[in-house]
Amino acid sequence: MPRRTKIVATIGPASSTPEVLEKMILAGMDVARLNFSHGTDEDHLARAELIRRIAKKLGRTVGILGDLQGPKIRVGKFKDQRITLQPHAEFILDADCQLGDETRVGLDYKALPQDVKAGDALLLDDGKIELTVIQVVGNQVFTKVVQGGVLSNNKGINRRGGGLTAPALTDKDIQDIHLAARLKVDYLAVSFPRSGDDMDYARRLLKEAGWEAQIQAKIERAEAIDALEDIIRASDSIMVARGDLAVEVGDAVVPALQKRMIRLARQMNRTIITATQMMESMISSPVPTRAEVSDVANAVLDGTDAVMLSAESAAGQFPVEAIAAMARVCNEAEKEAMPEVTILDNDPIDRVEKAVARAVIHTTRHLQVKAIAALTQSGTTALLVSRSDMDVPIFALTPNESTQRRVTLFRGVYPLDFQHENRSSAEVIAMAEQKLLALGAVSVGDIILLTIGEPIGIPGGTNTLKIIRVGEHSHLT
Ligand code: PGA
Ligand code: MN
Repeated sequence: MPRRTKIVATIGPASSTPEVLEKMILAGMDVARLNFSHGTDEDHLARAELIRRIAKKLGRTVGILGDLQGPKIRVGKFKDQRITLQPHAEFILDADCQLGDETRVGLDYKALPQDVKAGDALLLDDGKIELTVIQVVGNQVFTKVVQGGVLSNNKGINRRGGGLTAPALTDKDIQDIHLAARLKVDYLAVSFPRSGDDMDYARRLLKEAGWEAQIQAKIERAEAIDALEDIIRASDSIMVARGDLAVEVGDAVVPALQKRMIRLARQMNRTIITATQMMESMISSPVPTRAEVSDVANAVLDGTDAVMLSAESAAGQFPVEAIAAMARVCNEAEKEAMPEVTILDNDPIDRVEKAVARAVIHTTRHLQVKAIAALTQSGTTALLVSRSDMDVPIFALTPNESTQRRVTLFRGVYPLDFQHENRSSAEVIAMAEQKLLALGAVSVGDIILLTIGEPIGIPGGTNTLKIIRVGEHSHLT
């Protein structure tokens, strides 16, 4: 049984040569994340090209996720690159300041002084530094240092409890959506969305730029938790973006939220990436800590589709080892059943495809099914079946390359290139059987479930489930 949970690795300076990328793909990278917060358009274009070329050479399919920077609010730069803030010191966030010093620093989001008030806790650099707002005067926010430390150029600012009103898509994001279209990304991640409308807007902009992809919401601000259902409904996928989320809602709240988000997204037939600091110590160590191993394993047990590496693979010393470690941990954790596998039972059957998916799940629970083959244009049937985590591989057989790349994120789903133009139903079914046999996924005599849209060749959704015993060329009676 191949690994079911997928691995997303962020690409950066530590992972941009053909040699390293090849090793990363062989170690198990399913999706490559291009982070638009760093690097130039040319960097991203070159990396995407390289990844697709190497994947093709290796006969693998690797999805590409473009991640928008979003309205992360940041301090400006300092005269001396960094300062040290002492506890109890006074410090001013000054929208008019150009170059900062020990007393004040500028802001990239000029409206911040209008968004905060006395008593607010501001967290800088992912919470490493904490300031309390004393008063706001014009464009200046006067604060007192609660938790001191070194503050360097362009570090992020969050408010405890959330509520900073910067719009979800900045001018840079809108430009980067055009880059995403040029890159033909399979997934577009939207940072800091507040509502389903933010997601609709991003989807529309991408479409206007001439491309369609799976749109992913990064859940990383307090308001997004309140609007979770609305955001998930407008998205194809979500990311449990634990880095910023922990700063906004408090780190101790995040593990329970992770479970809630994964459950809800699965129930709504959406996919999920669990992200940030999963293998953090592997930035500089060839082996993970016990806690990191448990974190990855627990995300798998929660039902995540994918686990993600950030700095570990983008800038760390051991990008390949980090992927291999994740793969090893996922494989082991998957042997333990997920606590909740009957999610689809509560989901209304309001589409023919859903009825077929439910029939597949039901049959798999009762017959000794060896593999599921979903002949699909869009990958939807494979997605629906995969929302119930079963110990049976789901192969998405599709002629469509973009669908092949999309399903790389779906838990337990594997893309197979399947060209069947001008073939009859009987021929297509025989070809699908042959494909799984050639792959070694099934043997003669095994039962496979095959879903298909009939009549074949006429566009339309999946409407048929075939139960087949491999090699007998006749359906079970
Ligand atoms: P980032 O998002 O890495 O782009 O900040 C993920 C997170 O906040 O966890
Ligand atoms: Mn973030």
